Amino acid sequence: MTDSVAVALRLRPLVKSEEDRGCRMAVQRPDAGVPQVIVNNKAFTYNYVFDCGDSQEDVYETCVASRLKKLLDGFNLTILAYGQTGSGKTYTMGTAFNGSMGEHAGIIPRAVNEIFEKTVAMAEQCDFRITCSFVELYQEQFYDLFSPNRREDSIVDIREDKNGIFMRGLTEVEVTGAKQVASELMRGSSGRAVASTAMNESSSRSHAIFTLSVVAKQKTGQKSVIKSKFHLVDLAGSERCAKTMTSGDRFKEGVNINKGLLALGNVINVLGSGESAAYVPYRQSKLTRWLQESLGGNSITLMIACVSPADYNVAETISTLQYADRAL
Ligand code: ADP
Ligand code: MG
Repeated sequence: MTDSVAVALRLRPLVKSEEDRGCRMAVQRPDAGVPQVIVNNKAFTYNYVFDCGDSQEDVYETCVASRLKKLLDGFNLTILAYGQTGSGKTYTMGTAFNGSMGEHAGIIPRAVNEIFEKTVAMAEQCDFRITCSFVELYQEQFYDLFSPNRREDSIVDIREDKNGIFMRGLTEVEVTGAKQVASELMRGSSGRAVASTAMNESSSRSHAIFTLSVVAKQKTGQKSVIKSKFHLVDLAGSERCAKTMTSGDRFKEGVNINKGLLALGNVINVLGSGESAAYVPYRQSKLTRWLQESLGGNSITLMIACVSPADYNVAETISTLQYADRAL
């Protein structure tokens, strides 16, 4: 494994519908000191494993906080939540943040709070400019969730120039505090939810990417400028992908498979293998193109694979475990 890519596995508790169905726990973490889970007598090992009793704070403190420190040093950071629909991706990321910073608050609100605390603490030395954007990628089309326009008029697309990758017309909101980010996030994700009922639950088939861009200008000394990007990605449900996944090294592309998840698996596979960066297949999907400058190279990536512990879901769980295994 390269240092820049890490994988966490998160096992959620049984939810009510699984209990009502009489489901049993099919996934075990035998030893809290070892980042391993066992399913059908087979062991899978990751960088981190969170059991069903582990809290949002445990996840944040164990694998997010230390990475976030690097963001203000100028490293790009990407955190992705992968898993079948209902496995806990949105809960873990905090994409559907409701404004309450209680124990259930996910990674996004916690990270945003910490970033603003740091900028306040460093205000003497640095001027900060922080902007955010929020896009949904559905059937290889990006929608700007911060756009004031109707959904069909909020389509944006990737461009590339000498300064790198960007989206023309994308709404970038300048933010000065955590509360403001929270209200923007709520506005954006409500747009996603409303749209999803109209679009046959597109939210389980779309990727939601929330991005914070940080520019820090030193006020004294060399007056250097540090720029970094933080992508927080709530991926599409992996179930369609899983159906056609082989147990071997490569994915086979089929008709209804989510292109982004396939490409992401291939990109992470190459990054994890330490092969030359020239061969990383970023161009296979819009998801990997948009994240290109924050996956691999000089950036830090954390994939959190979310799984249900229920026997009912064991086939999907195993395919998530295998997908996540490719990143190591
Ligand atoms: P996904 O986004 O992967 O479809 P959700 O995040 O919406 O899944 O989670 C499905 C349900 O399980 C939600 O009701 C959520 O609150 C609950 N849930 C997920 N993970 C946890 C967890 N670690 N602890 C408690 N409840 C959880
Ligand atoms: Mg979700």
